[in-house]
Amino acid sequence: MSLTERQLPVHAAMNQFSVREGELVVGGDRLSLLAERVGQTPFYAYDRALLRGRVATVRAALPAGVKLHYAMKANPMPAVVGLMAGLVDGIDVASAGELKVALDAGANPQEVSFAGPGKRRAELRQAVASRVLINIESFREVVALEAISSELGLPARVAVRVNPDFELKGSGMKMGGGPKQFGVDVEQMPELLADIGRAGLAFEGFHLFAGSQNLRSESICEAQQKSYELALRLAQDAPLPVRFLNLGGGFGIPYFPGEQRLDLGPIGDNLARLAQRAQTELPESSLVIELGRYLVGEAGVYVTRIVDRKISRGQVYLVADGGLHHHLSASGNFGQVVRKNYPVAIGTRMDALAKETCSVVGPLCTPLDLLADRMSLSVAQVGDLAVVFQSGAYGASASPQGFLGHPACVEVIV
Ligand SMILES: *Cc1c(COP(=O)(O)O)cnc(C)c1O
Repeated sequence: MSLTERQLPVHAAMNQFSVREGELVVGGDRLSLLAERVGQTPFYAYDRALLRGRVATVRAALPAGVKLHYAMKANPMPAVVGLMAGLVDGIDVASAGELKVALDAGANPQEVSFAGPGKRRAELRQAVASRVLINIESFREVVALEAISSELGLPARVAVRVNPDFELKGSGMKMGGGPKQFGVDVEQMPELLADIGRAGLAFEGFHLFAGSQNLRSESICEAQQKSYELALRLAQDAPLPVRFLNLGGGFGIPYFPGEQRLDLGPIGDNLARLAQRAQTELPESSLVIELGRYLVGEAGVYVTRIVDRKISRGQVYLVADGGLHHHLSASGNFGQVVRKNYPVAIGTRMDALAKETCSVVGPLCTPLDLLADRMSLSVAQVGDLAVVFQSGAYGASASPQGFLGHPACVEVIV
């Protein structure tokens, strides 16, 4: 079988997993056996060895002293967060629900930070009582935290999330620059920092998160460089020395044909230069990088069983027991502008020579429920297992599981 260039990234994703007796191996087991162990399809499986390996790769690329945080909204499964908590330096949460999972997982509150617009008062109380770092995103939060701090007799630990005056170029999702609901505009910083000082909050640093899913190291370096310079300027107005400077992340993974892996080398070199400067320019600070998808995305697969095989006007449809309701992003309905296929394979026929062009669809009564649109896959029958790769991030928790009343999926870590 010759592979065309176009198919290569699909195989790069698959290559992290091996094949035994014609089946994909996940967590040491053939897929059909893993499905027996799980006891049902559909399911997500996250591979511990791949998770550990990815953290080790990032560590090797980052300079010593730069802290690595896991942004757990990418995959909040408690067992995943538990594993990650032991591997990274801190956990970034975006709700009180995530905060509970992080603390239950054993994360050190000193190294947990809480970001997000619209933090409810009750959530802020929980965060102050937990002694985690709160990334302030509005003037209202300063007022609320001042009151909560005095009620609890515990000064809130705060950093300021800055909405910078630049963007992360080439990002799948931009979360800074221009008008945004995230953070506070850099123009309003002098006023906000003065408020924080007057309120007596324990100021600890700055948080800049410019965007997500970026595959261009030059853009990431540029954003980190600009973020550092900006924080250095803002530090002059800060009520206390900067202890944490969170430069964001945005490291992307390849999903679609033609996408290249992110080159960590230049990012590590750039961070080494910034960390060097920080030693004299912000002597009490640690630089922090927060990654979600990059740490977990490639370690997970979504597995769904083919329950019907239909031919409509010459086109083959494999109807699976899972789809959009468990894996919104693979269906193309989670932020994509143009729908493209995630890497998909028939995991129980990895060595089959017979291929066909077919579509893998889910059981929902909507044409949006599409996992593979006219892809070349091994010829599959009812009972086979279809696998969606690159499914470790923004999968189960980012999908409308209640939509149409089908059973929920199961998640396992293997
Ligand atoms: C979503 C988010 C992340 C994680 O983004 P990834 O693309 O998964 O790495 C990190 N930080 C903040 C503030 C976020 O909102």
